[in-house]
Amino acid sequence: MFYNSTRNSTVKVSSAEAITQGISADGGLFVPESIPVLTEDEIKAVGDMSYADRAGFIFSKYLTDFTEAEIHYCTDNAYSTKNFETESIAEIAHLFDGTYMLELWHGPTCAFKDMALQILPYFLTTSAKKINLDKKIVILVATSGDTGKAALEGFKDVEGTSIMVFYPEDGVSPMQKRQMKTQEGENVGVCALKGNFDDCQNGVKAIFTDNEVKNLLDEKGMMFSSANSINWGRLVPQIVYYVSTYAELVRDGEIESGEKINIVVPTGNFGNILAGYYAKHMGIPVNKLICASNINNVLTDFINTGVYDRNRKFYATVSPSMDILISSNLERLLYILTDGNDELIKEWFGKLATEGRYEVTDDIKAKIREEFFAGCCDDTQTKQTIHEIYEKYSYTCDTHTAVAVKVYNDYKAQTGDTTKTVIASTASPYKFSKAVLEAVQNGESDLDEYDMIDKLAELSKMPIPSALADLRNKPERFNDVISKEEQKKYVLEKLGI
Ligand SMILES: *Cc1c(COP(=O)(O)O)cnc(C)c1O
Repeated sequence: MFYNSTRNSTVKVSSAEAITQGISADGGLFVPESIPVLTEDEIKAVGDMSYADRAGFIFSKYLTDFTEAEIHYCTDNAYSTKNFETESIAEIAHLFDGTYMLELWHGPTCAFKDMALQILPYFLTTSAKKINLDKKIVILVATSGDTGKAALEGFKDVEGTSIMVFYPEDGVSPMQKRQMKTQEGENVGVCALKGNFDDCQNGVKAIFTDNEVKNLLDEKGMMFSSANSINWGRLVPQIVYYVSTYAELVRDGEIESGEKINIVVPTGNFGNILAGYYAKHMGIPVNKLICASNINNVLTDFINTGVYDRNRKFYATVSPSMDILISSNLERLLYILTDGNDELIKEWFGKLATEGRYEVTDDIKAKIREEFFAGCCDDTQTKQTIHEIYEKYSYTCDTHTAVAVKVYNDYKAQTGDTTKTVIASTASPYKFSKAVLEAVQNGESDLDEYDMIDKLAELSKMPIPSALADLRNKPERFNDVISKEEQKKYVLEKLGI
């Protein structure tokens, strides 16, 4: 299997090269040349494997330059009860008849990003070795909250790497901020940026593609790589849990083999739902991929109209990990849907960069509408949904997941579709305890962050994840705040250049 760049189809690299480079030199994203297809029997067989073996099986289809031993080394280190609080790794909870919550947050940072970021450091260091790269890998991350912490946990003290994380100063939850400021490890750095997530991401992208910076690093025996979901090594582990969940539902008699399901994903950068798209095209029977957004609903509008327009107000919401106006991974979907038309992709994403807007062709609009449904909701509706689920099903979900539930309810009301449905539950409710607690008890709370957690534990009867409970006693190590203009200089300084 080789990988092309979405902005230059003649680029052809191995998975080890795609993973170490993160983003193609032309600014495009790496996509596999084709999507490997599983047979019905293969999918069934997945149901009887451990999560680590399920992952290994999927990876063997995409990372064909990795040996079996290398894949095992990666999956065994990432997907064990050493890092995850449940044996199943990706836990399926039953919400109500035919509706399943795919709890992807039992990892060390309590958000679904762990599913990929626990394994990415192993992919990266293994890939670097494979292609004889004798360089220190410097990870730069822009985060809307969850990626940063998950990447820090994944990379901390991993030999041959260092990691630097930028987050929007006022764009993350108090718990997320505290998680990052208290990060342990000798090879880690964390910095707040005056701006929003898109500023952080644009800055990181600009530094990545800056040739002067690249040469300076090269002289010092270092190279950049990315832990953002633009890295293929982030995306491929996310395909696993959709295949895994389907196989498990078949194994447990919840669905028939071959029966279609809907997949609902609370979406920001379009990584998680794109993994669902890949799973579908690998042979998982999917009826609709339902893309749920908060009030930063640029994707809802895009899927419904074919016009992507980021020229709009940016809102800080109670689901901050979805407060995004540029969904990077959409570029991969459009590349696939245009049958690899790199010229068209360059034209659209060029327009996005200069005018903040592009419109796809009617043919692409139709293809998108066939596979996707999109909806959005505001903070009030998000909180109402948390309250309703708590009252009706004694289930407590976080703000991001609630957006997905609300959009799914709207979808059902609008279409009458009764297809069984998997809802991606992307964070522990404890990670967004203020909003969740206020929603559950239907009133404001002035407790401090930790008392809120205790109160939420009392009401939800869910155990507090140990990683969050332990934060109370950790000292803050990182308090830098910079402007976006200072970002490049800051990175070079921290690297000793
Ligand atoms: C990152 C994140 C999302 C959005 O996922 P994308 O892959 O960026 O679409 C949703 N919910 C939570 C809790 C997240 O951390």
